[in-house]
Amino acid sequence: MERDRRRVWHGFTQMAAYADNRPVIVERADGREVVDVDGRRYLDAISSLWVTTLGHRVAELDAALVAQAQRVAHTTLLGNGNSVVVELAEDLAAVVPVDDPRFLFASDGATAVEQALKIAFQYWWNRGVKGRDRYLVLGSAYHGDTIGSLSLGDGGFGTDLFDPLRFSGTRRTPGYRDPDWLAKARSVLDAEGAGLAAVVLEPVVQGAAGMYVADPEDVATLVRAAQDVGVLVVCDEVATGFGRTGAMFASDLAGLRPDLMCIGKGLAGGYLPMSATVASGRVAAAFDGADLGPRTFYHGHSFGGNALAAAVARRHLALFAEWDVLANVSARAAQLGAGLEASVADLPGVGQIRRCGLMAGIELDPPDDGLRWGRRVCAEAVEQGVLLRPLGDVVVLVPILTSTEAEIDRIVATLASAVETVCR
Ligand SMILES: *Cc1c(COP(=O)(O)O)cnc(C)c1O
Repeated sequence: MERDRRRVWHGFTQMAAYADNRPVIVERADGREVVDVDGRRYLDAISSLWVTTLGHRVAELDAALVAQAQRVAHTTLLGNGNSVVVELAEDLAAVVPVDDPRFLFASDGATAVEQALKIAFQYWWNRGVKGRDRYLVLGSAYHGDTIGSLSLGDGGFGTDLFDPLRFSGTRRTPGYRDPDWLAKARSVLDAEGAGLAAVVLEPVVQGAAGMYVADPEDVATLVRAAQDVGVLVVCDEVATGFGRTGAMFASDLAGLRPDLMCIGKGLAGGYLPMSATVASGRVAAAFDGADLGPRTFYHGHSFGGNALAAAVARRHLALFAEWDVLANVSARAAQLGAGLEASVADLPGVGQIRRCGLMAGIELDPPDDGLRWGRRVCAEAVEQGVLLRPLGDVVVLVPILTSTEAEIDRIVATLASAVETVCR
């Protein structure tokens, strides 16, 4: 830990307090548990910040990675192709809810969002339409930490100091925590739709906001209204994609067909950094033109379409079907909901519980500021062998999709015990 503190700068972490917060230093993993340098085991109840889908050290994914390494690890997609990436794009095309989809690969979720917002902007430019340069975005939204994605996201998380760097072309209406969010978004859409390049939203679940869940029908209503007046719809499925909500994509829960979709996190099973911006064929067609001409999308990342990640992502997608992962998600999600209701909801100090599939947020309700209940409850759970991490005073549970019945019970029991210890 001392060597870590001296040389590694951890994201979203106050390094001066890092060591005092007793970080887990992982040395290896085993199924759904991580093992620290002292041999202590922790059940991973946050899917390593929402990226791990089927587990750590899945034999089939390990084998896909090794086999690809013996072919080629990486070649550029700028102007050239790679067969495993072609195969992945074809496999993904069969499952994403985007018409005639095209995949622009990158490495991180924020970058996938960055690409989507630039594609939406240039789409109108390429079509010669002037004045469609604003984005309708939601309160409490989180889309990543690059300047563009940060601009689409709402403030908070200590990012307000960057406000002068955020671009100004956003129109923000309240997020899912406001029961009237749909009506407010619609009224702006109705009044200002002609000036909008796109509506950008996290379909159904605003994860980083603290797991706020919208009625899928409401999301569908807004998306249909936007598409009816020609505004592009960008669904950020970086967190919700690949089974977390119980469907393959949250857009499926709402029956949406977004024009652009961002995927990341679980795309390669949590093994490797891979993301993609998915564009409909109609959007992509607006970029066709002369070689080296101005309609080209001049954007690309060195590691976009990494072959190792593509091989793992392909095998990962096949395993979803082979193992009927979504059936397990449904059963475990129902169990998690019932367990939280029975053992956690009525404990002193617990406020609202919000959940969609295997994404849950337990809002703690401390009597005073500065008690750091979120952090202390999670620290207590870690002490008891279940790895948790809070968002402020919201304890977030994002169990791995292949979790067993016994593991879900253990997560709920440990959380209940940690809440009782800290909040009593
Ligand atoms: C995590 C997340 C991102 C950012 O992804 P990174 O890979 O961390 O850059 C974007 N959007 C949503 C909804 C996310 O949950």
